[in-house]
Amino acid sequence: MGLIFIIISISIVWVASLWKIFFSHSKSAFLNEGTPLHKKNVLLVVAHPDDESMFFSPTINYLTSKGHNLYLLCLSIGNADGMGSSRKDELFRACVVHKIQLQQVNVLDHPELQDGFGQVWNHGLVAQIIEEEVYSHVIDVIITFDSYGVSGHCNHGDVHYGVRKFLHDSSPGNIEAWELVSINIMRKYSGLFDIWMSNLDVMQHPSGVMHCLLNEHPLKSFQAMAEHSSQWVWYT
Ligand SMILES: [Zn+2]
Repeated sequence: MGLIFIIISISIVWVASLWKIFFSHSKSAFLNEGTPLHKKNVLLVVAHPDDESMFFSPTINYLTSKGHNLYLLCLSIGNADGMGSSRKDELFRACVVHKIQLQQVNVLDHPELQDGFGQVWNHGLVAQIIEEEVYSHVIDVIITFDSYGVSGHCNHGDVHYGVRKFLHDSSPGNIEAWELVSINIMRKYSGLFDIWMSNLDVMQHPSGVMHCLLNEHPLKSFQAMAEHSSQWVWYT
């Protein structure tokens, strides 16, 4: 009897979560202050090919659907396993799926910014590269990882600290910067159920410093991730 009650309760919450995600159109105000919408030049900074699809797909879908001008800076080709060349090609194919202009995608292969858990990236170098991107594209908004970097990869954290160093040392002052909030492993793998926790987080920050972007195009996200076929070993 107890087990049946638990199964029914989980089913009800699962259906409610599904409804919340697909049918409750609570529109986010992220980068969408006032009307008409002011299109912004947004720079997404990631560490490896596939970061954009694995971690930032809802963000990319949101930004492109709102007409913002998205630039992608990937600081390495992800050559930890010697597959950097393939991974770079996969990134460009994923960007086609995401409808990111390919001339606005910059993938670096810098000797001091190589993929790997043992590779410590110089935050000053990362900041310098970001500064060049910001000034050459007249960037309004930077989006990147938080200090944990979702998966805990040290390169993700270094990207975060590089952005922070740029903002602290040489930002022109009118740039917004946003970080993707890492959540604990229970929430990360709770699937649809996390929608309630994410909304609760946003409600606790009514000043607009936190937003929850629902992925309105999950199929596109899957297709983009599918382009990173060399990385499917992580998910099988
Ligand atoms: Zn990564």
